[in-house]
Amino acid sequence: MTSIIDGEAVAADIRDDLQGAVDDLADAGARPTLATVLMSEDPASETYVSMKQRDCEELGIGTRDVELDADAPASDLLEVVDDLNADPDVNGILVQSPVPDHVDYRDVVEAIDPEKDVDAFHPENVGRLVAGYPRYKPCTPHGIQKLLAAEGVDPEGMDATVVGRSRIVGRPMANLLSLKEDGGNATVTLCHSRTENLAEKTRSADILVVAADVPGLVDGDMVGEGAVVVDVGINRVDADTEKGYELVGDVDFESAKEKASAITPVPGGVGPMTRAMLLWNTTKAASRQHGVDVTLP
Ligand code: NAD
Repeated sequence: MTSIIDGEAVAADIRDDLQGAVDDLADAGARPTLATVLMSEDPASETYVSMKQRDCEELGIGTRDVELDADAPASDLLEVVDDLNADPDVNGILVQSPVPDHVDYRDVVEAIDPEKDVDAFHPENVGRLVAGYPRYKPCTPHGIQKLLAAEGVDPEGMDATVVGRSRIVGRPMANLLSLKEDGGNATVTLCHSRTENLAEKTRSADILVVAADVPGLVDGDMVGEGAVVVDVGINRVDADTEKGYELVGDVDFESAKEKASAITPVPGGVGPMTRAMLLWNTTKAASRQHGVDVTLP
């Protein structure tokens, strides 16, 4: 029987466990607060930001909501980040991407105080992760580590293949899986758009993480017998539904399920974990900044 990994349930457990830490911080006068910054009129970005704020509010994490006109100068965005950096009541800063073309996203990421960088995209936080002493872990790969742990999968000694080398998913995922720490210790192959013989690399994996942004890139023929398959992809494809589309992953679920021992669905797999781990990082940020120790799940 293939196990369908329930990301909603694991994320709900993490949120429940985080509640105690958030309450302890609030009791100590150190309630975590996340600032979201939106510089876009894209409805999807607006939805993501409001979901993140709702997630925070459900746990009693404070929110700040900053919105800028999409045609405002880049300096306005950098000033907002500076003000949030200087505000002792703000523990985490998240600038929703994508930002408009006239803004250099790299400048924005580098402007965020690394202590408040709950996305963990600042080069200092990337460097610490690669060096093996992460301050914050990026939400999606960290969430995948938690999902594997909840499924009883210990990557130690396993062959893991990661498809995709983006700075937000693939590359940090490969790093985390290869770190000498719990949830790591795997032998990692990192594949990307120039990889030759992709199927050979995916088929040999005990753990296969796919984050390529290509619907159905990996099908059952590319999955090894008994592999644990984590599908990160979220793709809208035309479909005969009320909305006119459906969400599918980068893995062809039906055929991959026949080979996998465990597999994440889309939606309901990795997505909820990404959201939960943002709350986790924001709670950790408040704990660090206020010097109040709490137990994180
Ligand atoms: P990206 O476009 O930045 O990176 C895609 C990567 O896949 C690139 O490194 C590219 O080299 C590789 N790739 C593309 N085609 C390939 C091919 N044919 N063979 C091998 N490698 C190939 O994407 P991203 O930001 O890493 O996101 C990947 C997917 O995950 C997207 O669908 C995105 O929407 C989704 N996503 C989901 C979550 C979540 O919480 N579930 C979070 C982040 C991203």
